[in-house]
Amino acid sequence: MSRRDQSRIDPRGRKVKILATIGPASRSPEMLEKLVRAGADAFRLNMSHGSHADHEPVVAAIRALEKQFARPIAILADLQGPKLRVGTFAEGQAVIRHSGHFVLDRDPTPGDHNRVHLPHPELFGIMERGQRLLINDGKIRLKVLEADDNRILCSAEVGGVISDRKGVNVPDAEVPIPALTEKDRRDLAFATEQGADWIALSFVQRPEDIAEARKLIGTHGTAICAKIEKPKAVDRLDSIIEMADGIMVARGDLGVELEPFEVPPLQKKIVNMARRAGKPVIVATQMLESMIEAPTPTRAEVSDVANAVYDGADAVMLSAESAAGAWPEESVAMMDRIAVQVERDEGYKARVRFLETPPDATTSDALAHACMTIADTVPISAITVFTASGSTARRVARERPATPVLVLTPSPRTARRMGLLWGAHAVVTKDIGSFEEMIAKGKRMALRHKVAAAGAKLIVLAGVPFGTPGATNLLHVVSVTGDELDKHTGD
Ligand code: PGA
Ligand code: MN
Repeated sequence: MSRRDQSRIDPRGRKVKILATIGPASRSPEMLEKLVRAGADAFRLNMSHGSHADHEPVVAAIRALEKQFARPIAILADLQGPKLRVGTFAEGQAVIRHSGHFVLDRDPTPGDHNRVHLPHPELFGIMERGQRLLINDGKIRLKVLEADDNRILCSAEVGGVISDRKGVNVPDAEVPIPALTEKDRRDLAFATEQGADWIALSFVQRPEDIAEARKLIGTHGTAICAKIEKPKAVDRLDSIIEMADGIMVARGDLGVELEPFEVPPLQKKIVNMARRAGKPVIVATQMLESMIEAPTPTRAEVSDVANAVYDGADAVMLSAESAAGAWPEESVAMMDRIAVQVERDEGYKARVRFLETPPDATTSDALAHACMTIADTVPISAITVFTASGSTARRVARERPATPVLVLTPSPRTARRMGLLWGAHAVVTKDIGSFEEMIAKGKRMALRHKVAAAGAKLIVLAGVPFGTPGATNLLHVVSVTGDELDKHTGD
């Protein structure tokens, strides 16, 4: 193990997590270290960009930082999914005239201002008159006039410059393309081999899309985040949230497939539904967009991040700001400061708890709920959770308790997954064998990780017999004397 940086083992001093996308601006080990110091809890590798050879050293560098900081870090590999793109143009680009006609066809010859290749045979034969094709993040809007098995004739409601391989969104059609393309399958295999903690599935349309990914992941056990960016997914939120381990409000494509003004209410709805289900939810895209170029954000962007924190999202995400911008470290630091400021606001707790999350009729949920009410009633410094699978920690976090949640687990994978979970500070420790050992360790780790000081009260939550997932049945309130620290060093 390399040098340990004890100063950063402490919890972050905020509940919401920061997920930073890695790209050319941030893939050096030096910059990754700066981002962890600035507050990144999890990193997104965007499989839409870069080769496996680009991503592999990033994974290695993140794992080295984990050791250096003695802090688990989540890696989320984001699969491109069935992102549709046009072909290429003879001159690299062309201008589509307003109200003019434009054809998408199956001919791979480079295009011009009249036509272009659409290299997705699945779309021919399913598009219907009146449906929309949106190109380049919705900047160009085409409406289908006529479609058959070989060509789609459109009229341009909004024209503009179109260039090689620009993205196409077809919000009105259910695209008969599986959520996992050939490329996604290769990327998924790479991600699981590399030990990614999470994969994200783009353009999920059906719960079956998640089931398919789950089958491919097999025994690797990688968690699955479903990106909500298709109207079809919005129609099936319940079943998709049920199937997934986490949810991303992918506002970029969602705001193209729908109207941008439809996104804010949906964001709140998705965050609330995921919170009720106890699944981590990430708010993503354009959060500090202007920081791609400038060292300070717009006031509107600051408000956007702050409001996601007030809504009780588990994580907020940086995209190009940290992947390709000029100010990656400043972007993470800014998110950190916004979150800390919001969470210090005395109105924060009430706002986050505004959402009712009634416990399920299980012992685990009854105890998780009790943790929250006990911590609200008597001065409690921290909730210490012993968990193997992480499920106890998720049910506690779901209650949005006011104290830090110290998650003790023998599983590095469980600890890393917590990088996207609200309020969780995860520590990998050796397994425990007895009740006495558990209480002693709970106190010791709370002191060591500075979530409790001498004289403080602590909640210890666990399931006995130890290591049985989902069997939370023990809640103990203990006092810490301060002497517990010296007794053990071996965990
Ligand atoms: P992307 O996903 O950055 O992979 O497109 C997020 C979004 O669409 O908002
Ligand atoms: Mn997207």
